[in-house]
Amino acid sequence: MPSHVITLPNGITMPTLGQGTWFMGESSMAKKDEVAALQRGIDLGMTLIDTAEMYASGGAEKVTGEAIAGRRDKVFLVSKVLPGNASRRGTIAAFERSLKRMNTDYIDLYLLHWRGGYGLDETFEAMERLLADGKIRAYGVSNFDLDDMQEAAQYDNGNICVNQVLYNLASRGIEWDLMPWMQKRNIAVMAYSPLYQTRLLKSPGLKRVAQELSITPAQLALAWLLHQGTVPIPKTSSVKRVEENRKAWDIVLDTQVLAELDGIFPPPDHKMPLDVL
Ligand code: NAP
Repeated sequence: MPSHVITLPNGITMPTLGQGTWFMGESSMAKKDEVAALQRGIDLGMTLIDTAEMYASGGAEKVTGEAIAGRRDKVFLVSKVLPGNASRRGTIAAFERSLKRMNTDYIDLYLLHWRGGYGLDETFEAMERLLADGKIRAYGVSNFDLDDMQEAAQYDNGNICVNQVLYNLASRGIEWDLMPWMQKRNIAVMAYSPLYQTRLLKSPGLKRVAQELSITPAQLALAWLLHQGTVPIPKTSSVKRVEENRKAWDIVLDTQVLAELDGIFPPPDHKMPLDVL
């Protein structure tokens, strides 16, 4: 069975299957369902919740805050600072605003959403301060390709724990060089858009293999990411679909199925630029 936790380079553990929140918090009508889905996920052990100050301009963090109220200690909370805020002081100020929106006093993992104009030395200095003050338990980056990671390694005191990138069966470019580089350093790959925002679920090949295994295409896509040792964070506002996604943790893919998937979704045979959304 796929493991339910991994240990990050700084020794803390993180769940291997989480929940995304992009597009949550955009409409007050949808909020009840969004909170219910996140809470069901927490109850089922998908306690990693990924959000960002960007999503719905803070709205997704507010939904997250509602979902974790009264159960903060069970949750591994991830949020992200926008590059435009990622100066030495701006990072801390953005972080404090995120705390307020989520009504909490710490974030488990704080990420730089993508590279912007501020130097990585500035951003990481702020991250190190948050770490030293006990306000975050770990920090990392998002949408960093290999050259960015190599540059980041000059400024992070070996403290980057996670790189959150687009990764799914239909987008495997990172397997060429980024993923091996990260694996060597035990830096976790958090796989965003694990269902390619549902595009992947329409693949006839994926549907066929899922049917042969008597599982759903979403479960197969997530089980494959878990098999790859990555941490998928599917987003759903539906309790039913969160229950469906959770079952990916119970699925073991044998070598024949893995080979079949490689045939349908070939791994890269050359360097590809990092795919982003
Ligand atoms: P995704 O998780 O691949 O797909 C989300 C879509 O799939 C939603 O439309 C959802 O609809 C649907 N869905 C979920 N489970 C399903 C199932 N079992 N069967 C059928 N449909 C299902 O895409 P994503 O939201 O882009 O990525 C996940 C998370 O990664 C985001 O929410 C965000 O937290 C993070 N992310 C980060 C970045 C970054 O730059 N760091 C970029 C993109 C995403 P319903 O809600 O209606 O179920």
